[in-house]
Amino acid sequence: MKSGKQKRGEIKAKRKQKAAKVQSRDKQQDLRLRPVLGPPVNEALLAPNNSYGVPDFVRRAYYVDRPFRCVDCGKDEVWTGTQQKWWYEVAKGFVYSTAVRCRLCRRKKREQSNEARRVHLEGLERKALRKREGLK
Ligand SMILES: [Zn+2]
Repeated sequence: MKSGKQKRGEIKAKRKQKAAKVQSRDKQQDLRLRPVLGPPVNEALLAPNNSYGVPDFVRRAYYVDRPFRCVDCGKDEVWTGTQQKWWYEVAKGFVYSTAVRCRLCRRKKREQSNEARRVHLEGLERKALRKREGLK
């Protein structure tokens, strides 16, 4: 048989465990409710601009995911904080430019302009060749 003291001790320990569980669950909920902060902004790496204003992500000091609708196909997509950091700090994109096309349409557009460039360069080459050969 357990003594009353033992029982009380067990009950106390169980209560403590339960309280800890609830607390950790509350903490997780807090994390979910807070807006998710993306990577920090490194202002020194941004493309220079002559604007007097400050882009909102610079004021916030963190990139946050930005939902947007594709202008070509209307699909809803998220421009993630990591993608924004790359665009502004590595690719040196204009600080007031934002994503307007979904991944798929972006790729399509890139392929189209690559193709246009290829056709243009081939045309130039043919022209130069004709010139060299004295043809018109
Ligand atoms: Zn699209």
